[in-house]
Amino acid sequence: MIYDHILVRYGELTLKGANRKTFVSQLRSNTKKALMPLQGYKVNANRDRMYIELEPDAPLDEMLDRLSGVFGIRSISPVLKIDKTLEAANQQAIAFAQNYAQGDSFKIEVKRSDKQFPMETFELQRDIGEAVLKNTSGIHVDVKHPDHTIKVEVRLDAIYVYDQIIEGAGGLPVGTGGKTLLMLSGGIDSPVAGMEVMRRGVTVEAIHFHSPPFTSDKAKEKVIELTRILAGRVGTIKLHIVPFTELQKQVNKVVHERYTMTSTRRMMMRVADKLVHRIGADAIVNGENLGQVASQTLKSMYAINHVTSTPVLRPLLTLDKEEIVKKAKAIGTYETSIQPFEDCCTIFTPKNPVTEPNFEKVEQYESGYDFEEMIDRAVDGVETLTITKDYQSDKDRETDALAEDLF
Ligand code: ATP
Ligand code: MG
Repeated sequence: MIYDHILVRYGELTLKGANRKTFVSQLRSNTKKALMPLQGYKVNANRDRMYIELEPDAPLDEMLDRLSGVFGIRSISPVLKIDKTLEAANQQAIAFAQNYAQGDSFKIEVKRSDKQFPMETFELQRDIGEAVLKNTSGIHVDVKHPDHTIKVEVRLDAIYVYDQIIEGAGGLPVGTGGKTLLMLSGGIDSPVAGMEVMRRGVTVEAIHFHSPPFTSDKAKEKVIELTRILAGRVGTIKLHIVPFTELQKQVNKVVHERYTMTSTRRMMMRVADKLVHRIGADAIVNGENLGQVASQTLKSMYAINHVTSTPVLRPLLTLDKEEIVKKAKAIGTYETSIQPFEDCCTIFTPKNPVTEPNFEKVEQYESGYDFEEMIDRAVDGVETLTITKDYQSDKDRETDALAEDLF
């Protein structure tokens, strides 16, 4: 079957009356970005749905795959747009049914939004069903549990026929919900946390704390790769890489060993907070999960959070690890996250960190040094990469060039 359109149904945005215009135009722009650089289509978005017009050679499967990852899309269907006649509807329904396996059941479901159309819904269903039965063999009607439902939508401009509905990513279009700074570590949790807020329409920039030579370039590459996967949903994501070695060393010098982790996290938060202001974001997002590790008790969150008044969003706070792993697999970050490159925290983690830190105590330790200047230096030293879904790191480019030389 050569389809001529993809029908895109909007998600929750139908609920948001006043904001509909913004939502639709953002979704149109995100859809175009997601489909880039594919060729052979035209995107037409109107108030309540989107039609993507296809040229005969458009890469349909690839397009469906990409569209199913765009937030704000509830579902998609490859459709045929036909003349507004019973004959045309019959022909198209028959063409679908001829592909069904022997013994399969089907039903015709008509939606008639053009109230001027000369035939009633019920009549149409009956007539099209009869035409299908007459022109096929080995299939039968089952209105309760059909194997196939042929949908016929009679609309003002045309009739649309299809028999497939592919579930979309749901949520809201990214770009309609403000901006956040995601603390992206390279572990399993933080990329999932980022995806969760993106699902709610929020734009994400990422911040990663890098401590060379204690953490390798491999760890950095891993975070770039995770950002690239997240960018697959929106086109591009900015990744800010913070030189963190100096701060981390200083913390280890002045803070009691059992409190270094709490203090390190507080330094991260202070750097993130400054960057939040610099990029015009409104919140910090992290992958913290209640009770998972020593640094994620309520007391610990309190002590870490105490350095900022910027909201810190923790979308995974109450999930079980299994649920997070399942989500990580579903969004495609899991395999990258489990690669064994240490991040800056693992390396400096004390043997016996305090699990219920007293924030006054940690502040007392930190008062032994004026960290402010060092924090500013870290922020000034940030390396910002714009990661697209097709981003290639320098290393990959070198490998590719080498491969081209060889063959
Ligand atoms: P993750 O799987 O996201 O690393 P985790 O269970 O390992 O989470 P922690 O290592 O305690 O948890 O980190 C808690 C959160 O702090 C992370 O989810 C992440 O948001 C942030 N974080 C930790 N290390 C870094 C880092 N090097 N750069 C940026 N953010 C970090
Ligand atoms: Mg971690």
